[in-house]
Amino acid sequence: MSFDSLGLCDQLLKAISDKGYTTPTPIQTQAIPVIFEGCDLLAGAQTGTGKTAAFALPIVQKLGEKVPQDKRRRPRALVLVPTRELAAQVSDQMQYFGRRLSLRSTKIYGGVNIRTQMDRLHQGVDMVVATPGRLLDHMEKGTINLSRIEFLVLDEADRMLDLGFIDDILKVAEYLPVERQTLLFSATYSQSIKQLADELLDEPRRIEVARKNIAADAVAQVLYPVQRINKKDMLSDLIRAGKWTQVLVFARTRYGADKLTEELLSDGIKAAAIHSNKSQSIRTRTLAEFKKGELRVLVATDVAARGLDIQGLPRVVNYDLPQVAEDYVHRIGRTGRAGENGEAISLVCPEEQPVLKAIEALLRQAITQKTLPGFPKVELKGGGRIKVNQVTNRPASSRKAPGKAKKAPAKAKKATARPAKAKTTKARVKKKTTTTPRKKAETNYFAPKNGRRGNRS
Ligand code: AMP
Repeated sequence: MSFDSLGLCDQLLKAISDKGYTTPTPIQTQAIPVIFEGCDLLAGAQTGTGKTAAFALPIVQKLGEKVPQDKRRRPRALVLVPTRELAAQVSDQMQYFGRRLSLRSTKIYGGVNIRTQMDRLHQGVDMVVATPGRLLDHMEKGTINLSRIEFLVLDEADRMLDLGFIDDILKVAEYLPVERQTLLFSATYSQSIKQLADELLDEPRRIEVARKNIAADAVAQVLYPVQRINKKDMLSDLIRAGKWTQVLVFARTRYGADKLTEELLSDGIKAAAIHSNKSQSIRTRTLAEFKKGELRVLVATDVAARGLDIQGLPRVVNYDLPQVAEDYVHRIGRTGRAGENGEAISLVCPEEQPVLKAIEALLRQAITQKTLPGFPKVELKGGGRIKVNQVTNRPASSRKAPGKAKKAPAKAKKATARPAKAKTTKARVKKKTTTTPRKKAETNYFAPKNGRRGNRS
């Protein structure tokens, strides 16, 4: 299958070849025709599969068919994403493709001055990529008008639910036109995702890419059993002995990320941390340095690293295993992207055995264990014969276990600027089901509490 046969226009074919893409990825081959047909879409695609272009290309082409003449255009496509970094990356892609058809895209997220975003919206844009919290701020201020939205994309929807954005998403959806095309992308399926899809999608077509082995196929995975106290020394040794030039290291907490960074620096290894306590400008600068190869180690928490696209990243290290097994898949998806090979190395201490079991159950495979000379031998019991609960994708035994993995959503919520209002995702989706937002969306305006019609843009 070639890009030519997907019905893309010449300008976009040129943009694709300028980017160096030669063949569409499986998600692109499957999703692009469905989007052109005008159907809603529920797509299961693991991270790094090329899903951004899978929705960006057909949306840009369809919007480009009728570019409004008025200068102050209102957005016609809205992409909701879980994090600022992902918003920036997706918006860059929308902008890159959109430019070829005289379309404008903008990004909206918290942690930066809202004024600049207001100005940009005021000038008129065709596509908006936003995190839900800051988008609601704009809606409340009346600085965005969503009445012309034709496309709603929920990107990394599972992650948005993990981060407690369910209320915000449903609230935004209430103010979108009923007549729209909705596309939902999620790396994993849960009951909550299904409920969200029932709520927002209209007879969606379903696509699933590479579900069998949900870890990126191109990523070689190994783990080193190690006592927690020895993790830092082991990481330093691996970096030096392996002559690693670039590695993304995941730490569980912001404090842990800062501490590890200091320790690596004192070992003479150039490292920096990104997490949600750092200002957006520092995060952007650090990431740029890492991408340019000026930093050897980037230490990140899950929230900060979500959606990071670093071309040719050779390896990631799980300094701490994530609290939720699904995050492991997201993490290792930072490497081995779009056909390149990558390596994922986990430093696992005995306390992390429960989550290791859950990860291996999710992967449906045991991760190869290795040892490093000079470090005491540590016994780890991995997955063994794993019985998987088909609904939750977790080992049957982990359901009752008070393991750390259970607490992850609460932690993740804490890391977001906007505290989650939902008691449980499931409960909120269920409750909202009775209010049918798509039917309520007739007004197409976000009316602020004082009753004033809010849209000025
Ligand atoms: P995504 O899953 O959208 O984050 O994309 C992962 C990476 O794959 C990005 O760096 C894209 O630029 C790249 N990519 C997307 N589509 C293709 C393609 N057809 N061929 C090669 N690389 C691609």
